[in-house]
Amino acid sequence: MARSIWIRALWYDDNGIAPERFLRMKFFLLLFCDKMLRMQKIITTDWAQKNFSNFALRHRGLREEGAMYHRSFATVCCLIAAIGLISAPAGAKKKLYKEKKAVLEWLSQPEVMERFGKISDALWSYAELGLQEYKSADLLARTLEREGFRVEKGLAGMPTCFVATYGSGKPVIGILGEYDALPMISQKGRVPKRDPVLEGAPGHGCGHNTMGTAGIAAAIAVKRVMEQYGLKGTVKFFGSPAEEILVSRPYMIRAGLFDNVDVVIDNHASDKFGTRWGVSGNAAISVIFTFKGKTAHSAGSPWEGRSALDAVELMNVATNYLREHLFYTYRMHYVIIDGGEAPNVVPDHASVWYYIRNTDDRIEEMYQRVLNCAKAAALATGTELAEVRVLAAAHQKHSNRALAELIQENIELIGMPEWSEEEQAFARALQKELGKEEKGMPTEVDTLKGPEKPFVGGGSTDVGDVSLIAPTATVRFPGRVPGAIGHHWSTVACNYGSAAWKGLIAGAKAMAATAIDLLTRPDVLAKIRQEFEEHSSKHPYKSLLPENAKPPLDLNKEIMDRWRKLMAKYYEEPEP
Ligand SMILES: [Zn+2]
Repeated sequence: MARSIWIRALWYDDNGIAPERFLRMKFFLLLFCDKMLRMQKIITTDWAQKNFSNFALRHRGLREEGAMYHRSFATVCCLIAAIGLISAPAGAKKKLYKEKKAVLEWLSQPEVMERFGKISDALWSYAELGLQEYKSADLLARTLEREGFRVEKGLAGMPTCFVATYGSGKPVIGILGEYDALPMISQKGRVPKRDPVLEGAPGHGCGHNTMGTAGIAAAIAVKRVMEQYGLKGTVKFFGSPAEEILVSRPYMIRAGLFDNVDVVIDNHASDKFGTRWGVSGNAAISVIFTFKGKTAHSAGSPWEGRSALDAVELMNVATNYLREHLFYTYRMHYVIIDGGEAPNVVPDHASVWYYIRNTDDRIEEMYQRVLNCAKAAALATGTELAEVRVLAAAHQKHSNRALAELIQENIELIGMPEWSEEEQAFARALQKELGKEEKGMPTEVDTLKGPEKPFVGGGSTDVGDVSLIAPTATVRFPGRVPGAIGHHWSTVACNYGSAAWKGLIAGAKAMAATAIDLLTRPDVLAKIRQEFEEHSSKHPYKSLLPENAKPPLDLNKEIMDRWRKLMAKYYEEPEP
């Protein structure tokens, strides 16, 4: 419509007649517009042919000159393109606007990589379990404070949960960051065979040390550019503890921490550089079943006792039979965290900790069936199902497509980091040790992924809940060796040192560039929000947590208190 108005204005005078004296000028102007529009793919060649070439046919004299004009236009374009190619920095596939250029340049400085790399390595050395991340949260929060963020700590009932804010007003862009470790998988960094720092101690087997750090690096880079160019809006970093046990986000949402956030950019360490949209992963309920029985002499008068351990074992037998009749998207695993204290005393207390996982639409029914197994076991053993304690519950992740497309654009712009010969050699050595293909580190970024078809479920993240209250997508950044196993010493080995530093900076760049787009391109933000509003009208958020659930602050306390003393001598203490 707009196009036809300006063409008419050029073409005709007030009486709808084209005055002869302007014909030549108009013709060249139109040829130029025709070229530009065709190049921009705004009009089709057919449309241009009809509107411009007919005109040239009617004015034969101009036709010849027109052909010449086409040739000179092409020559000038070639020259401009050639100059552009020569002067463009390597890897730049698109012209950058100044704010995005500034954010990427800041993160590209070697001293910036070193600063955040050392913070990531320090978190790796602390390897604190969920809700025990006191040193990790403190280092990240201090770094943000030093950069001028307002930091609120101890939020949503969790001492290691914090939110750092810079700026004011809309839009509000959230960046997520995690920093908890996993038990039992201690390992030396960049050593390609099993070699624990401390046998049995916790380790960063999912890369959360790099993720919390990538998140603050992105937030700080964005803040600096907002300041430099006077960009309006707010950037918030959500320090999210205990992701490995799926704890923090549902409680953070309940506490209102995400109210008024327009878009959330999440990140996760990976062996790829990519993102996806649509539903992924499984919903999960983490729950401890505790049985109470009666003690007795296990040999002298066992008939006097009622074994709580029997109830746990019978419950597990029942749930293992249940597997056959669950829809294939399920996952279910448990550990017996209390099985009594001595064989010669019938145990009067026993507990089993379950992870129950399935799709959003199947999780609650599955949970009820597992609960029935517990009740039946209590009945059969004459014990009591004394407590059902839900520790955490999270939805599947519903990643926003428009946001994922924007992230993908930035990932392609940034490109895969260049790995050194030493990093490639480590990757091949680790792959050899694990019996995997010795292909080294990846060289190409991933393509944009959609929902898995058929859905094969798998792991869970409490980011799922965030994705139902604000448009969310995850930047997966590289650094892990392809073939390294998650929650395993091989991944702990990858999350320390130079390749991890390069990966986390690549992730920070993708997040920061996306945040800058969201702060400067209201049309893109509006599209993301619109998609989210439509999605949430179909999938309104309702927490899977029982109303009385509280963050399980005690869960890892004992284990961590024990390890802290032994691990302290390996701690790294960088500048914030
Ligand atoms: Zn993880």
